[in-house]
This record gives sequence, C-alpha cells and structure tokens, in this order.
Amino acid sequence: MQQHLQNKKGLVQSVFDQVYNKYDLMNDFMSLGVHRFWKKSLINMMKPSLNKKLVDVACGTGDIGKLYLDNTSKNEKITCIDPNEGMINQGKQKLSNYNNIEWIISSAEKLPLPDNTFDFYTISFGLRNTKNLDKAISEAYRVLKPGGRYLCLEFSKIQNSNLDFIYRNYSKLIPIIGQFVVGEKEPYEYLIKSIEQFINQEELIELMENNNFKKCSYRNFSGGIVSIHSGWKF
Ligand code: SAM
Repeated sequence: MQQHLQNKKGLVQSVFDQVYNKYDLMNDFMSLGVHRFWKKSLINMMKPSLNKKLVDVACGTGDIGKLYLDNTSKNEKITCIDPNEGMINQGKQKLSNYNNIEWIISSAEKLPLPDNTFDFYTISFGLRNTKNLDKAISEAYRVLKPGGRYLCLEFSKIQNSNLDFIYRNYSKLIPIIGQFVVGEKEPYEYLIKSIEQFINQEELIELMENNNFKKCSYRNFSGGIVSIHSGWKF
C-alpha cells in the first residue's frame, strides 16, 4: 500500500534532516512528555528477557533500543535501523555508554538483514513515514524468527469525539511550537498531515494479517491518540 505524501521526492528525508538535532526536545514539548509513557508501554508489552534479539526499525535517536537495554541487560545485542544519518548520529551520541548496538542506515521497506533472525521487531512512530506500508510490514515478517513478535507504536485514530476535537485544535499549535523550539514549522506541518492521512487501527490489523502475521491485536493509549499493534510470526 503506497503512501501518497511519503512518496513526494525527498520530503521525509528533508523533514528529519531539519529536526534531528532538536528531535528529543521537541518530542517532549509536543507530547508534554507522554511519549515516554507510550514507549515504556511498548517495552512492557514486549516483556523483554535475556538473549532475545531485537531489531528496532525507524529507530531515530534510539529511545526504544535504550529502554530495551535498560530493561534487559546492557550486554544484549540489538540492531537499530534508520535511513536518516543525522538521527542515527544523535542516537549514537545518546547511547554512547551502550556497547552492543549495531546501527544501520537503511529503510524499513528493504532491510539489509537475513531471514528468520530476530525475536522482536519494533517500529515506533516510524511506519507512518514509510513509502509503502505492505513492503515495510512484509520485511518485518521476513526478518522475524518463527515465534517472533511484531510491535508497532504509531499515531492512530481517536475514539472519543470530544477528545478528537481538542486534539485537532491542539495539532494546529504544533507547527507554531516547532517554529519556536526548532526554528522550523514545515516538518511539523508534515507531521500533522501524515497523522491525519494514516490508516486506522482496524486497517493496520488487516495489513498485518494480509502479510501473514497471526494473533494480531492492538491497544489504544491516550484515547487512541496512539496505539500499539502486535502480531506474531508462526
Ligand atoms: N523511533 C523513534 C522514536 O519513537 O522516537 C523515531 C521516530 S521518528 C518520528 C521517525 C523516524 O522514521 C525518523 O528517524 C526517520 O528518519 C525514520 N524514517 C523515515 N522514513 C523511513 C523509512 N522509509 N524506513 C524506516 N524509517 C524511516
């Protein structure tokens, strides 16, 4: 499934090229810190244990990898992948005390990884940025081991009309906050558009099932502002 906005030449890359050095700060501003709770919830759902291999795709500055290592052992070996070098470099700096991270510059639609390798595949606020959702999900399936689990944290559709109204109005402020904090508003206009145009919870379940994942389910957080989808490779 092609995504129209994300296929505009160079758009997504330039969005993250403009924000990578203030990405973490802006995340805290925009979500009032709640993104930390959502990411922790992803790790809690995963229940990581020792000797399980994780690949975190669209890793950005490495938040999920960091949480995973903090909840297992700093010696676990994990793989973090992102097409944007600026984001990866921020992650390398932030996680410089963690030795066992392999950083790879690549996109979710074509992972330079062997089949049947990982116990967990995570993608946090990344699927929405891919050019082709089916390709990204089928690559996740390919690199997971049989018995491996797919977990996707992403903006979703709000279930309550009052909250939806408040959120839509708050969204209009985000480019203004972006201008103030990062000095750029265009990346945040992209963010709002990409959230509006993204598929809903049930449509994502359907795509996961079409790509062979089993026992697919999701949990909404903050009224559906985000959801975490889970599926298994059997
Ligand atoms: N996972 C991190 C987090 O939760 O904070 C970063 C999320 S950030 C909103 C989205 C990331 O997706 C960026 O680092 C961007 O470079 C990356 N990205 C953009 N297009 C991608 C693609 N086709 N495949 C994988 N990652 C992509």
